[in-house]
Amino acid sequence: MFDPISLLVGAGLVGVGWAAGRFGRRPARNGRPEPAICGCGHDLALHDRTEGSCHAEIVRKNAVGLREWVTCGCRRYTGPTPLEEFFTPPVLPPNDR
Ligand SMILES: [Zn+2]
Ligand SMILES: [Zn+2]
Repeated sequence: MFDPISLLVGAGLVGVGWAAGRFGRRPARNGRPEPAICGCGHDLALHDRTEGSCHAEIVRKNAVGLREWVTCGCRRYTGPTPLEEFFTPPVLPPNDR
């Protein structure tokens, strides 16, 4: 037999879990924040803040078979955007003990 109070508490816990799963995407406490990787495979930090183009350099072979460094052809960051990165410039990595 369930009393209304425990039903409410159970429903509340389910709701909290659902909300945390849906909105919570917090960076892991015990390590680095969730990596923000663009579709080109490079980190968000390598992308221009205003233009969105990627500044990473990649190695490729040129016409004569020699390796050369070229700038990534990515024009716009397409990966996930961490909220804290979005609102604050990434001068330093998060440092909350
Ligand atoms: Zn990119
Ligand atoms: Zn890139």
